[in-house]
Amino acid sequence: MLRYAGANIFFDWLLRGNLPRGTSVFCYADDTLLTARGRNFGEAASLASAGGSQVVDSISRLGLTVALHKTEAVFFHGTRQQEPPDAHIHVEGVRIGVQPQMKYLGIVLDNPTEKEEVREEAREAITLHWAEDLASATYGRWTLDAIGPVLNGWLDRRHGCLSMRLVQVLSGHGCFGSYLHRIGREETPQCHHCEATVDTAEHTLQVCPSWAEPRRALMAVVGNDLSLSSVIASMLGSEETWEAVASFCEDVMSQKEAAERMRENDPLAVPLSRRRRGRRRRIQRLSPSAPGGEQRATGAGAPPPAPQGSTPALRPL
Ligand SMILES: [Zn+2]
Repeated sequence: MLRYAGANIFFDWLLRGNLPRGTSVFCYADDTLLTARGRNFGEAASLASAGGSQVVDSISRLGLTVALHKTEAVFFHGTRQQEPPDAHIHVEGVRIGVQPQMKYLGIVLDNPTEKEEVREEAREAITLHWAEDLASATYGRWTLDAIGPVLNGWLDRRHGCLSMRLVQVLSGHGCFGSYLHRIGREETPQCHHCEATVDTAEHTLQVCPSWAEPRRALMAVVGNDLSLSSVIASMLGSEETWEAVASFCEDVMSQKEAAERMRENDPLAVPLSRRRRGRRRRIQRLSPSAPGGEQRATGAGAPPPAPQGSTPALRPL
């Protein structure tokens, strides 16, 4: 289990990326549960170490620090398995002792004979918390309307991982005039690529004439309806459609970012965007609410059931 500061529904999607086969991860807010299954303690411990390192690495790349000395681990086993004396695992060189139980989102995980329930209960608790988050309008209407109805589908999907540029379009938090204006980096929310007075993720995806060509390629795969809910439904439908959307986002957002950099470097640019240049990189991250905040990490050496579906490859964050 890993705990980190800053909650974001997209966090989980990013962390899932490149975990070793046999491990899976559940995240909510500052609690992350990593499970690893093996035929014996040694195998599970080895996977938990490798998976733990991956998660720590992903979290570090989001600008957060994991407090590994606060990590906890539990070993779940059947009646024929024994927990070795002084059982422990190592994550990033830190020794983590195996405890008789741990708490995750209020659930005590301590029953070695009901390992399937551990996974089910953790998933249920997280789904509930996420649903509450979405209902509380932590995210914009753009994201809420599209993701709320398919939350379970997202959690159960067997393909697709998120690049940062894909997340920007899905969340509306990124290199869009309206967002840059809202955080004080642009004087107006206007689109710099057409005459529109407001640039949003929706405008970029559906309307802006500058992106007509990549949009045509996208529509050839996902169809003509580019509402976010329809796009997300398409992404869930197949790996091909997921990749088509991801490719559109990479293509368009990289061009928007390049244009923004040029505006910032323009000696005639209005002082506002140049003065705030140092803040630019924060937009490209997910901007967890407390970057640099302390996190506690807890690894779980456990043999729960196989993870659902294949483990997708991680895209660069
Ligand atoms: Zn435009």
